[in-house]
Amino acid sequence: MNIIHHGARTGVTGSCHEIRIGNYGLLIDCGLFQGEEGGRLLDIDFPIEHIRALLLTHCHIDHVGRLPWLLAAGFRGPIYATEATAALLPLMLEDGLKIHLGLNKVQCSRFTQLVQQLLKPIPFDCRVELILPSSELVSICFRPAGHILGSAYIELVLPEEGQISHSCGRKVVFSGDLGSSNTPLHVDPQSPEQIDTLVIESTYGNKQHQSVCHRERHLTSLIDRSLKDGGAILIPAFSVGRTQELLFDIENLIAKAMKGISKQVDSTVNWHQLPVILDSPLAMEVTQQYVTFQRLWAKEAKQRVISGRHPLSFEQCVTINQHSDHIALVNRLKATGEPAIVVAASGMCAGGRIMNYLESLLPEPQTDVVMVGYQARGTLGRQLLEQPKSVDINNRRVEVNAAIHSLSGYSAHADQDDLIQFVANIKNGPSQIRIVHGDVAAQEALAQKLAVVKPDCEIIVTASETLD
Ligand SMILES: [Zn+2]
Repeated sequence: MNIIHHGARTGVTGSCHEIRIGNYGLLIDCGLFQGEEGGRLLDIDFPIEHIRALLLTHCHIDHVGRLPWLLAAGFRGPIYATEATAALLPLMLEDGLKIHLGLNKVQCSRFTQLVQQLLKPIPFDCRVELILPSSELVSICFRPAGHILGSAYIELVLPEEGQISHSCGRKVVFSGDLGSSNTPLHVDPQSPEQIDTLVIESTYGNKQHQSVCHRERHLTSLIDRSLKDGGAILIPAFSVGRTQELLFDIENLIAKAMKGISKQVDSTVNWHQLPVILDSPLAMEVTQQYVTFQRLWAKEAKQRVISGRHPLSFEQCVTINQHSDHIALVNRLKATGEPAIVVAASGMCAGGRIMNYLESLLPEPQTDVVMVGYQARGTLGRQLLEQPKSVDINNRRVEVNAAIHSLSGYSAHADQDDLIQFVANIKNGPSQIRIVHGDVAAQEALAQKLAVVKPDCEIIVTASETLD
């Protein structure tokens, strides 16, 4: 058995790992390079003739976005993913194809049809056996990772050398992206009982997040203030995961305000009339899938449904689909200055409908912009966090009089403590940990901590590994 990292070895994007079993290989994820790594060639630069299947941990574009290039290189093997990931995948790919490749509707649907034919949706916690041409059996199983809807870590049990069956073979786990603990919508990842080799992400291997309670308090005070002085609250958000967590929290704050049970919420302000606008066709479709897959939600979210609430499709939530409605709304908010919460993509203000809101409303002092996600260098989101006097949007110089806030605690990723806990809770093993999906500093910091909880384990910082 051999593991090769074709992406996400020295950074957080372009996830793509290969596990070699004899003469055959399985790919785990095939993601797009983004941000500082975005300049890398996307053509598949490794042999694929021996690859028997692609296994997807979740549908974020940095884990699935290079799929068009994999198919262009001739891959036609099965694509295994959880049922929810399989449902979200065509939406994510279609959106990505339009943006990155400029494909039209017909070209996009031809491509997604091909992907649908190859997709093999697998329920969580079910074991599936793959038969290699050598007649060897590899068993795979998707376990909840709690990162976004459908996200999984993947357990593989390989055949013992010289044996066909995997009955007592080596167990290898690919973490994919692990979610942070104690979020109300996504379940906490449960560690496997026993592993031999673990390939683990380290996005926040050297950082701790603020607590979920803190994010709720901060959001409440922002909305309170905005209701008093008017103006829009603009929240640039990623369409999958972040948007739904925000909607979920906002619905909860409104419910508390209406019941008058929360001390945090000022009951004199008009919370129950505040429109919450979801202006992103992709986020709308993804949110519908979240509703369809309610059975995968965490306990707290299910509890709210049982008590008769609709955490992701509540009365005050208005969705905007047509582009003309979007333009009309931007103009209306500019003209009236009425309070509203607008959630729109892209999360880093690098395109998407949020750009028109920013262009029109950044000059207004009553506007609040709330950043809830990571803002990469070179993006407008990052620029705004530095509180500039003006910025360039759509080739126009726009004055910034709005208040810019950064709200932490909405990360979909495990922080250092969560990652350590995930490993510490493995009762038996692993004997080897390969740290990926993080910059060198994050990988090294995590390696030091993991060496304490698993002192007998070989820990590899793949970013510093010398390659043959
Ligand atoms: Zn992800």
